[in-house]
Amino acid sequence: MELSNINFQGAWNIISGRNCVAEKGDIIKKYSAKVMIVTGKNSAKASGALDDFIALFERLGIEYKVFDKVTENPHLDFCRQAAIECKEWGADGVLGIGGGSPLDTAKAVALLSQNLDTSDEDLYAKKVPNAPLPLFACGTTAGTGSEVTSYSIMTLGYGENVKKASWGSKAVIPTITFADAKYTLSMSRNSTLSTAIDAVSHGIEASLRKTTSVFVRMFAKETLELVWPVLKKAIAGQELTFEDRERVLYGSVLGGFAIELSGSCFPHSAGYSLTTRYGIPHGFACAYFTPELLRVHLKEHKEYVAMLLNAMDSSIEEIERLFYSVIPSFERNDEELKTLIASASKSRNIHSALYEGDENFAEHIFRVVYATLDKYGK
Ligand code: NAP
Ligand code: ZN
Repeated sequence: MELSNINFQGAWNIISGRNCVAEKGDIIKKYSAKVMIVTGKNSAKASGALDDFIALFERLGIEYKVFDKVTENPHLDFCRQAAIECKEWGADGVLGIGGGSPLDTAKAVALLSQNLDTSDEDLYAKKVPNAPLPLFACGTTAGTGSEVTSYSIMTLGYGENVKKASWGSKAVIPTITFADAKYTLSMSRNSTLSTAIDAVSHGIEASLRKTTSVFVRMFAKETLELVWPVLKKAIAGQELTFEDRERVLYGSVLGGFAIELSGSCFPHSAGYSLTTRYGIPHGFACAYFTPELLRVHLKEHKEYVAMLLNAMDSSIEEIERLFYSVIPSFERNDEELKTLIASASKSRNIHSALYEGDENFAEHIFRVVYATLDKYGK
């Protein structure tokens, strides 16, 4: 049955390679004449991507406005403000430059600017009447896959009710994705590690989700073969070459296709709690759970685990040791544990893996994380 699962729908136009914005960016003119650039405080400038797009837009006579207020883990309410600004300015296209946070914000702005009255509930229920503006995406981190996915991860609620949740629409798959590894050279060590771990997580989790298929695992295998050796180099503190950066960036795209097809498992859903509670970067937040995800599948889905470990030429023990050598520690006590379990238990995604666990599964995985942090003296 699973062999028939190669359903794959979407319209991608991925333009890649060094200097691809300057050399192949003219295509934007086919879609837009007035573009709102959605980005964070530093990434677009530090990476050189903003200068390249501004030079392109000035050469093509495209009007632009820079909106550089996106912060990490963007809140949906903030995206609504940006969408109003976009609508009032009269943009006919949106360009997201940055990591997953600006790219996810750009998706929300492209869609909500044309649907200002759409409620949060309707957005999450895919009840959005009007098409989004054409959306262009240029990643400056390498790993989230947001540059090719239909997902956008938003922070919702406030105080005790704050959470992260993904909405999605095929309509917000970027019209054009620019993938140039030179924009990832300026990333910090932590961002490099966290986002590369995110790409690895996408490959592993998409393969071990109930929606896995031959097609998903094909993307996953390539993702892991590209990214894992570079991630090991980065964890060991070695300098990454431009070619290394390209491997991770293209791995990010392929891992993006893997989750586009299949989605993710409990490391993502449980990891969101660690991000909202302790500010732990997304890729690191997933990494706490990856070894246990692989272990719980050893019994009944050993062949999938073997495929993943073969692609990485690694072992669960090595993955655990390397991930736990870079992920940060966080406050641990009985109260905190209860809060984390309660918030993860609410996630409908906690039982998305091929191995379903039981009703105490959220508790199980956090207890394992606590014990593993102890084991590594963190
Ligand atoms: P990010 O939150 O976009 O950025 C993290 C930090 O890195 C920011 O301070 C950012 O600066 C900086 N930065 C980015 N690129 C840089 C560069 N080239 N040089 C210097 N600094 C740079 O990080 P991310 O890990 O890429 O994205 C995480 C978000 O993506 C999470 O919200 C996660 O849930 C989401 N995500 C989405 C998908 C999807 O399919 N939609 C998949 C996985 C994860 P600025 O402040 O200037 O931006
Ligand atoms: Zn992710």
